Amino acid sequence: GIRVRFAPSPTGYLHIGGARTALFNWLFARKHHGTFILRIEDTDRERSTPEAVATILDGLRWLGLDWDEGPFYQSERLAAHRQLAEHLLAAGHAYKSYETKEELEAMRQAAEAAKQPFVFRGRILSPAEEAQLTAQGIPYVVRFRVPRTDGAVTFHDLVHGEQTKRYADIEDFALLRSDGSPLYILSNAADDIAERVTHVIRGQDGLANTPKQLLIYRALGVPEPTFAHLPLILDGKRAKLSKRKHGERATVQFYQAQGFIPDAFLNAIALIGWSPGDNREILSREDMIAAFDFAQVSRTNGIFNLPPADQPLADPRQFTDPKALWLNAEYLRTLPLDRLLPMVQAQLETAGLWKPAFATGDGQAWFARTVDVIRERFRTLVDFTTYGRAYFDDTFDIDPEAARKNLRDPRLATWLPELADTLEPLPDWTAEAVEAALRDFAAAREVKAGLFINAARVALTGQSVGPSMFEVFVLIGRERSCARLRATGQ
Ligand code: GLU
Repeated sequence: GIRVRFAPSPTGYLHIGGARTALFNWLFARKHHGTFILRIEDTDRERSTPEAVATILDGLRWLGLDWDEGPFYQSERLAAHRQLAEHLLAAGHAYKSYETKEELEAMRQAAEAAKQPFVFRGRILSPAEEAQLTAQGIPYVVRFRVPRTDGAVTFHDLVHGEQTKRYADIEDFALLRSDGSPLYILSNAADDIAERVTHVIRGQDGLANTPKQLLIYRALGVPEPTFAHLPLILDGKRAKLSKRKHGERATVQFYQAQGFIPDAFLNAIALIGWSPGDNREILSREDMIAAFDFAQVSRTNGIFNLPPADQPLADPRQFTDPKALWLNAEYLRTLPLDRLLPMVQAQLETAGLWKPAFATGDGQAWFARTVDVIRERFRTLVDFTTYGRAYFDDTFDIDPEAARKNLRDPRLATWLPELADTLEPLPDWTAEAVEAALRDFAAAREVKAGLFINAARVALTGQSVGPSMFEVFVLIGRERSCARLRATGQ
């Protein structure tokens, strides 16, 4: 069966590029009923902390990218990697290289002076010479012995097609450092071999390693995986997406905190460098699994339109790719309500606005109805506790711009409390009853009903836009509506 792996280096966050790599591996595994393996490449001991690993696992769980095997930890397998190097050494595919740093530097400079590319070839010593140097305690690195023939490494990349690299252009790369520790290129391939990975699906930056890794596979005579290298992700100005340039905006955790729905976020990142081959843009997990195919993965770099971290934003909602935000709004609007409600509850809890009354009896029905009505205009879960705060709590801010626009008329100071007095005793607190009373109230004062509708919206919700205002009166309720009209009028 098909076996794929996501092999992140735990550097403290799960970035968008990593999430997309994980997603494509997961889609491919699920489509072919294969196995999705999680391997933590934690050999950089300084940067790999338990917290960094937890961040990655949390991000994958949030996205619902469940793994079938692992997590395996690369750092636990270093002895096996070393053994593989010993094996290559014994078989003559690797050698002990005693060149010093200074010698290497001199060779590099000589190549440069001759305007030749520098492709390192070390001295291969006789067993006697080797034994002598070893006896003297001279340090060495173990290098792969690239074939000294005219041949080339050729392979078929599922995204980039046929790739060829001549042996003559591949340096004798190191497998073990002088302290015996394995180099990443070896560890990475050794783990893929041990985990019987059939398809290596990874970022484009892995492409340069592939010929060397294939040399290792071929020297060992083990089955080779198929490779698929995914295009880079660039921002709107064609700069590579990076933690350095885009800060936390380049991380998955940021979107979680900004109120993205996991399915919407997955949908958005799936479309970076892939398309289902038709015009669909909204795809559920199942849709993506069914449609996923490397033939539709682009060779050209994908775009996730983020502003750099140091660019100030006019509107906090400009923080992300507009298409991702649009997709999230679509999901918010169309998600089955019973799936959305727990997400809104979690958001209210985070903001300290959740009340037990929202979970039982009338309160529960009210909560469901309110979420259903107000979600129409929202784009993130956070909007429920910012723009939508007034529905769930009596403490909320009035948007100054909304007040300037809709509370300008000085007569509202007395009219809004009078409107409250008119509405409060209505026998039925329904949208129709409130509307009829408000329109009569406006007619009696010879002003347009719109003056009161707009003013009431600001008074009741703090905002200048929202759902049908008479519906809002019903959701906010008789008592709270009248209190807010009076408070705003004074
Ligand atoms: N640990 C590597 C990275 O995070 C993964 C390389 C690979 O998938 O082979 O970039």
